[in-house]
Amino acid sequence: MVMEMMAIPGISCEEGRIAEYVRKQLRGAGVPAEAIKMDRAHQKTPTTGDVGNLVLKLPGRGAPAVRRAPRRVLMAHLDTVPICVGSRPVWKQGPGFAEGYVESASPQTGLGADDRAGAAVVLDTALATLRREEHPPLTFFWTVQEEIGIQGVRQASLGLLGRPRLAFNFDGGSPCKLTRGATGGYRLTIDVHGVAAHAGGAPEFGVSAIAIASLAIAELQQNGWHGAIRKGRQQGTSNVGTIEGGAATNVVTDHVRLRAEARSPDSKFRQRIVTQIEKAFARAAATTKNVAGQSGRVSFEGGLDYESFYLEDDDPSLLAAEEAVRRVGGQPLRFFSNGGLDANWMTPRGIPTVTLGCGQLYQHTTEERLDVARFHEACQIARLLAWEAGT
Ligand SMILES: [Zn+2]
Repeated sequence: MVMEMMAIPGISCEEGRIAEYVRKQLRGAGVPAEAIKMDRAHQKTPTTGDVGNLVLKLPGRGAPAVRRAPRRVLMAHLDTVPICVGSRPVWKQGPGFAEGYVESASPQTGLGADDRAGAAVVLDTALATLRREEHPPLTFFWTVQEEIGIQGVRQASLGLLGRPRLAFNFDGGSPCKLTRGATGGYRLTIDVHGVAAHAGGAPEFGVSAIAIASLAIAELQQNGWHGAIRKGRQQGTSNVGTIEGGAATNVVTDHVRLRAEARSPDSKFRQRIVTQIEKAFARAAATTKNVAGQSGRVSFEGGLDYESFYLEDDDPSLLAAEEAVRRVGGQPLRFFSNGGLDANWMTPRGIPTVTLGCGQLYQHTTEERLDVARFHEACQIARLLAWEAGT
């Protein structure tokens, strides 16, 4: 199942085919159509998508104590990063992999284990749950648009989940690594405007937007505000990730657009990073002039992708996850992530969520792999979390 799921293309906003696959599997296992709901998150996100988030909500079954236990939700995101389109999963053996690993047969593509492995863990648990006589109330939740700033969960109709008390997200490497907090992220678009001129005939009348951007980035890099950032006791990261613009070598470029991000668990420090980026660009624009004394200008558009969160030591989902990991013979490890996760929007929206790995390795690269033993371990842990742990 996971092999099929990784082969289905489905970048952010194009999750239609993979959502349909999940829906078909559920319907094939006898789930009535009305138990499966899709929200309209994809119509509220900045980039319109094919489909919204997919929810399967099951009532509890069996003895009253189990049937009426608090509801739990298991979740994972359906989208993959663009490098995974065209993935051809193949299962191989290799040193250090007890049950082998999966990678894409085509060297130019990533595998898509991030996060089809998680989506498969959730689907496998849902299908196994349908065969059981007894289980607590359960919700299975497949989200969209995680990889482009946690947009799917941010706009999700969380009321469809039925007020879960425990929440488990599957996304990452080792299932023993329990992500109980993550940094917050801010994303900004920077438009740099210069003045166009003939690069051979009258370059002195031009103001190069490329030169402005270069000066700004160089300043950030030299002053320790680009990449890993440490100022006193405060930490964060920043990255200028894309730069586009220019039309020809014989024209002084009058516009480039850059996209950058800043992360820090401390929202004030994150804002300071953003301010440093904005100031560097504003300074570079003001000091880059043509012979007529015209300078460049910059404009910024940005917003918070997700706020940081931190689960308390006695958070019930965290404790349940630790119990489940121990029961499969693992050693649970509490972890704080410098990347955003669906849990970044679940938690502030009222559903504190712990995240477990599912065997992913080298995510977002062409080297991406799925560690099959870790994946199977995650499937076992997920069943415990769905049916037993934390009661
Ligand atoms: Zn992911």
